[in-house]
Amino acid sequence: MKTASGTTLITNGQLIDGTGKAPIANATLILRDGRIVYAGPAVGAPKLPLGTTKLDARGGTIMPGLVEAHFHATYFNITALEDLDIKYPVEYVSLLSSVNTRLALECGYTAARSGGCLFNVDVWLKKAIEEDLIAGPRLAASGREICSAGGLMDWNPEFRKIGMEGLVFVINGVEEARKAVRALVKDGIEWVKTYPTGDAASPDVNDHHTLCMTFEEMHAVVATAHNHKLKVTGHCRATQGIKNALLAGYDSIEHGTFMDDEALDLLLARDVPCVPALFFEKMSIERGREFGLSQRVIDGHQETLDGGSASALRILRAGGRLGMGGDYGFGWNPHGDYARELTFFVKHVGLTPLEVITCATKTGAEIMGRGDEFGTLETGKLADVLLIEGDVTADITILEDRRKFLAVMQGGIIKAGQLAQPFPTVVKWH
Ligand SMILES: [Zn+2]
Repeated sequence: MKTASGTTLITNGQLIDGTGKAPIANATLILRDGRIVYAGPAVGAPKLPLGTTKLDARGGTIMPGLVEAHFHATYFNITALEDLDIKYPVEYVSLLSSVNTRLALECGYTAARSGGCLFNVDVWLKKAIEEDLIAGPRLAASGREICSAGGLMDWNPEFRKIGMEGLVFVINGVEEARKAVRALVKDGIEWVKTYPTGDAASPDVNDHHTLCMTFEEMHAVVATAHNHKLKVTGHCRATQGIKNALLAGYDSIEHGTFMDDEALDLLLARDVPCVPALFFEKMSIERGREFGLSQRVIDGHQETLDGGSASALRILRAGGRLGMGGDYGFGWNPHGDYARELTFFVKHVGLTPLEVITCATKTGAEIMGRGDEFGTLETGKLADVLLIEGDVTADITILEDRRKFLAVMQGGIIKAGQLAQPFPTVVKWH
C-alpha cells in the first residue's frame, strides 16, 4: 500500500493516541512520508519546512484508525445458516466483498482481521487492497474455516450431496485436521479459524453449550499451524470449548462467552486476546423475529449476550485484552454498522469510551500481529489516522456516523471522509 510523500501538519483537535493515555487537548500530529513524526501538545511541536500540507481538525478528535478484529468480508445479508455458503456463487461473492471492504474503510476501519471467509477471497482482497487497486482495510486473511463433522458448520443433510467446500473444511480426526491446515498454508492465509463450539443459532444439536471439535483435533490444528507460522483462533462459547482452545495453544479466542475462573486464568496466563462480538447477539434478539428466528434461538442469543457481556468485562478488569469486532454481514447486523459494537460496550458492558477505543485500535493491531506498525499514534508508526468532528470520549456514538469523519487516512493518504478526493479510478498497469 502506498504511503504519502512530504510533510503534513494536523492541528486544532484533541488527540487520543490509542494507548489508553488521557486525551491531549489542543494537540498537533505531524506526518512525514506516511509515518508519524510527532504526536503531542501543539506547544512543543517542532518547526516545519515550507510546503507542509496543513489539515484543520476543526476542534474535533484526532485518533488512530479503527481495527475490525472479526471481519467477514464475504457475508452479505445473511439470514439463515445456509446463506453463509450457497447463497451466491463465488464470482458474485468476490464482487460483494470488495464493496464491503470499501464500506469498512469509509467507516473509519483502516485495518481488519478476517474471522472466516468463503473460499480464499480475503487473501486476494488483501492483495488488491495492498496494491491500491481497491479501497479497504489492511487485512489479515483467514480463508476457509475448520469444523468437525456433525458440528455447527456441517448443516447440509447427507442426502442433498452438497459439500461445504466454499466455507469450511469438515474434518474427522487429527489427520484431517492437519490436512485442512496444510491446505490453508498453501492458500496463503494468516489466521486459521476453527469451530470448537456450537452457537445459539443451532439450538437442536449444536447449541452454545455443545462442543464441535475434540481437543485432539484442535491441538493438531495448532501444532500444524504454528509449525508454518500461522495463528489459530476459534468460535468459543461453551466453557469447556474455551478451556480446550486455551490448553491447545490458541492465539486468540472469538466470543469467549461462558468464562469460568479456570478459563479466565488460562486466558490471562498467556495474555490471549478475546474478541467478544456482542452487538451481533443484541441485534439477533432485537430484530430476529422480523427475520424469522424462532423464540428458542432468540432465547439462546439472550443467554449468549448476558454471558458474553459478563465475561468480556471480567477479562478487561482482570487485565486481559479485548478486540472489537462484530460478525457483521447478517440481515439484522449489516456491514457498515461496525462502530455500534463500540457503543454497545460503553452503554451496556461498562467500558469507558477511552477503554473501548484502545481495544478497537491498539489491541486490534496487536491481534493482527502488527502492533509495532499501526494501532496507536506514536512516533514511527504508519499514519493510519481518523479526523472526526466532535469529542468521541463524550459521545462514542459519533463513531457510528461516517458523515462526521473529516478524514480516514492510511499511511498519511486521505482515503475517505469529507476531505477525501475521489478514489483514483485510473490504474497504471505495469
Ligand atoms: Zn464470525
